[in-house]
Amino acid sequence: MIPLRRPRLEGPLAEKLARRTARLSAEDATAEAARRSWQRASAVRKQVKALLQGMSAGLARCMYCGDSQGTDIDHFVPIALAPARTFLWDNLLLACAHCNSNEKRERFPRDDAGASLLIDPTAEEPHDHLRLSFMTGEYFPRSGKGAATIDVFGLNRWVLQRGREAAYARCKSMLRDWVFLRAEGNEREARRVEESLGLQPFADVLHAMRHTPAPVATTVFGVDVSRALRSLDVAATSTVGLPEPRSVKGTSIGTPGGSGIIIPAAAAPVPPPPHATLR
Ligand SMILES: [Zn+2]
Repeated sequence: MIPLRRPRLEGPLAEKLARRTARLSAEDATAEAARRSWQRASAVRKQVKALLQGMSAGLARCMYCGDSQGTDIDHFVPIALAPARTFLWDNLLLACAHCNSNEKRERFPRDDAGASLLIDPTAEEPHDHLRLSFMTGEYFPRSGKGAATIDVFGLNRWVLQRGREAAYARCKSMLRDWVFLRAEGNEREARRVEESLGLQPFADVLHAMRHTPAPVATTVFGVDVSRALRSLDVAATSTVGLPEPRSVKGTSIGTPGGSGIIIPAAAAPVPPPPHATLR
């Protein structure tokens, strides 16, 4: 999971969502009625999905596992628990079918104060709650929220662990390539590697690498990779540039699949955590 920027919604789609939300509230709709209303709203769902795909990492990856294509619109607070939130923009995220239907389903754990125990990657920094082992691809919780999120989304299922392990090796290799290409003045190829890094699944691996404090990064990743991670910070803010959060009036934001790419996502100043991420 990586932090994703949710643009403020304005215009016709925002109005449609607001109207449908008002109607559900006025009718004090049951979960069943809200679900029917959601199923009937195919045009709205299509527009929402296009926006969510634009917000997601890489090529429309699932906002939870970061591996598979996001095919479903997930209601963060499930319709069964909050029918009135069915059409709330802030409650809609992009998930793969497995995360949505096999893992999360209608689970939504809360703490004693009633606050969500699931990480919303469009509203907070997942890295504050999750620690990634680069060597095994396994997530460890940093908080109760992290523990519940790992459990509910099945973030440590073996395919994800193996995928992250491979992504770590791939990222290091691509970063070393990037350093080499830059050193020989081949900016064009370096740029391609940079863009390709931003389109990889498991964006969380590079995100975690970029959160690793410099001295630790040098020891664990090696000098070249560590240097590339630091240099990419500069590149991200000057050339690649994730579109800043802005209001959206249409059905797409930025280039398809391009607004959630991991390199610029990390351009948002996030101080490295005091605790290293490594095992
Ligand atoms: Zn998923």
